Amino acid sequence: MDKRVDLHVHTTSSDGTFSPAEVVRLAKKNGLSAIAITDHDTVNGIEEAQAAGREVDLEILPGIEFSTRYQGAVHLLGYGIDRNNEELSTALEGIVRDRDSRNRKVVEAMQQDGLNISYEQMQARFGEVIGRPHFAQVLVEFGLAKDVPDAFRRLVGKGMRYWAPRTTLSIERCIELILHSGGVPVIAHPFEYGYDPSNLDSLIVYCMDHGVRGIEVRHPSHTKEQMALLESLISRYSPHCLMTGGSDFHGTIKPHNFLGQPEIPYTWYERVKEAIATPFPYQL
Ligand code: AMP
Ligand code: ZN
Ligand code: FE
Ligand code: FE
Repeated sequence: MDKRVDLHVHTTSSDGTFSPAEVVRLAKKNGLSAIAITDHDTVNGIEEAQAAGREVDLEILPGIEFSTRYQGAVHLLGYGIDRNNEELSTALEGIVRDRDSRNRKVVEAMQQDGLNISYEQMQARFGEVIGRPHFAQVLVEFGLAKDVPDAFRRLVGKGMRYWAPRTTLSIERCIELILHSGGVPVIAHPFEYGYDPSNLDSLIVYCMDHGVRGIEVRHPSHTKEQMALLESLISRYSPHCLMTGGSDFHGTIKPHNFLGQPEIPYTWYERVKEAIATPFPYQL
C-alpha cells in the first residue's frame, strides 16, 4: 500500500482530546507515515509529538493553525515553522492573552446563569489554549446541549449567549509570521467560509499574491466535487502551488473526523517539505 500522511491534526495543546503522544501512536496504528501537528495558536504540542514520533518511527511536521481576518474568518495553516522563533512566540502570547480575556467573559455569562464553573477549573482541565469547542463540551456536560455541534448551533456560535468576540490577526500578518519563522503558509479548508465561487477565487488569488504557497484540498468538510474543483484551480494558478490535506482530527470533540481520513498521499507531504527547504522559489 502507498504511504499516507495526515497534515491537519489537533492535540490537547489546543482543542483536541488526545495528547500529542497519543495522536502519534494512533497515527502509527492507522498506518500513517507522517503527520503535521497543527494546533490552534500554539506550538506547545510539537516537542512531545516529535519525541513520540522518534519512538514509533513516524515523521512529525511542526505546524500551526491561525484563525485570521480576511473578509470574514479564514484559517491559515503554517508548515515547517521554527517553534522557537521569537516573533512567532511573542505573537502567540498576544493571541493567547486575547483568548483569555474572551474566555473569562464567557465563563462570567455561564456563572450569571447559575452554572457551577470557574475559569481556573477550565484552565486546569483544558490547558492554556481554551477555545469554543471546550465551552461546547462543558455545556453538553451541564445538559444544556445534546452534543458539541448542537452547542455551536444554539449557545457558543457567533452572537449567542455563551459567545464573546476575540481579536484575530489579519491574514497578511499571519502569512508574515509563518514566513518569518521559516514556514509555508497554506489556506485551510477553503470551502468552510461560505464564499461563492468568485469570492473564493478572489480569496485564493489574494492569498497567493501575499505569500501563501498552498491550498488544503482534501478535508472532511469538502465534497468530492469541491476537492476536484480545487485541484483543477490549483493547476491553473501556479505550478508551484502546493496541495495539502488532512483530517482536522480533534479526537472526541469532533467525532466524525478520523485521523488519516481523507487519504493524503506521502508525495504531497514530500512537496511540502521541498517547499519548506526552498523559500520563495518563484517571484512574488
Ligand atoms: P475559537 O477559536 O475558540 O473561537 O473556536 C473556533 C474553533 O471552534 C474552530 O477552530 C473550530 O475548531 C471549532 N468549531 C467551529 N465550529 C464548530 C462546530 N460547529 N462544531 C465543532 N467545532 C467547531
Ligand atoms: Zn479546533
Ligand atoms: Fe480550521
Ligand atoms: Fe483545524
